Amino acid sequence: DEGFGIGRHRLLEILAARARSLGVRLEHEHEVGADLVPGADLVVAADGVGSAVRTRHAGHFGTEVRSGRNHYTWLGTTKVFDAFTFAFTDTPHGWIWAYGYGYGPEGSTCVVECAPETWTGLGLDQADEAEGLVLLEKLFADVLDGHRLTGRSASGPGASWLTFRTLTNRTWSRGNLVLLGDAAHTTHYSIGAGTTLALEDAMALAHALREPVPLPDALSRYERERKAALLPVQSAARYSARWYENLPRYIGLPPQEMFALLGQRHSPLLPYVPPRLYHRIDRAAGHSQALRRLKRKLGPLIARTVQARSLATRAG
Ligand SMILES: Cc1cc2nc3c(=O)[nH]c(=O)nc-3n(C[C@H](O)[C@H](O)[C@H](O)COP(=O)(O)OP(=O)(O)OC[C@H]3O[C@@H](n4cnc5c(N)ncnc54)[C@H](O)[C@@H]3O)c2cc1C
Repeated sequence: DEGFGIGRHRLLEILAARARSLGVRLEHEHEVGADLVPGADLVVAADGVGSAVRTRHAGHFGTEVRSGRNHYTWLGTTKVFDAFTFAFTDTPHGWIWAYGYGYGPEGSTCVVECAPETWTGLGLDQADEAEGLVLLEKLFADVLDGHRLTGRSASGPGASWLTFRTLTNRTWSRGNLVLLGDAAHTTHYSIGAGTTLALEDAMALAHALREPVPLPDALSRYERERKAALLPVQSAARYSARWYENLPRYIGLPPQEMFALLGQRHSPLLPYVPPRLYHRIDRAAGHSQALRRLKRKLGPLIARTVQARSLATRAG
């Protein structure tokens, strides 16, 4: 996989410098409380997945949260990965894997994930952060090349581990209050798109506000555009998360096939076709335009059918 990386601090410095140059007054370490911002023309709630502003009106926004099955921890390392790195390690309690990607010359992000039974089997639920890091450094010694892992100083056994929350909102605005970024929607980290999506939200909102229309119309346009743009990304994220939750389905394949299917993990078709057959079709499709077209058509069709079925199940 290819990609571009930048450290969060550096990105925030760039954005803050740009905001200042446009005359924005920045305030840090200032909790936005119940009074919000009295007298504001527009309040943009970009306060992340746990958004306090959104939570205050959760009923209005129609917030839905689905927790993934696997446990993950978000770590850093001084090892600089020069390419997106997937490392899978077999343990007596099942597989555990790490996604490593560099963010600059000083280090990389390293997200470690496993099934709940592996997490408890390895004792990661009982380990404090330092003990957990020592165990993970051993399990991933070959890719870390002797580098250390760093955590976020979470306290208590298992505290640095979470399950990923996929969040959606039925509506994104309420009067002059509008949601943006993770406060409005989240997509599983395995597609590495959350920051881009938040920035694209901001661009679309700014664009909509430039139109000479009343505020509610501008906010509706923003929401409509962004929800439409998000659909394929949310689908890719859902299937990608599910691929990892179904790892036993793929992990026994010959390594080349397994990694080829890892690259296909966003596919709505893959969960419904035996993996080896899918791989063969995919390879053949590489040589045949007709098969490629069929695959492109079948994927969204299956995704729509599955979505319709799950909507019907929920409605029923
Ligand atoms: C394990 C993991 C790995 C990821 N890796 C990637 C990746 O590689 N690439 C990528 O693009 N995305 C990645 N993401 C997703 C990405 O982190 C988010 O999508 C992105 O940070 C969303 O940006 P945001 O500005 O909406 O929210 P956030 O980055 O969460 O920012 C919200 C801000 O609001 C502040 N805030 C919260 N409450 C208040 C309050 N009451 N008052 C004042 N301020 C408040 C917070 O301090 C924070 O600064 C990853 C996510 C996870 C979980």
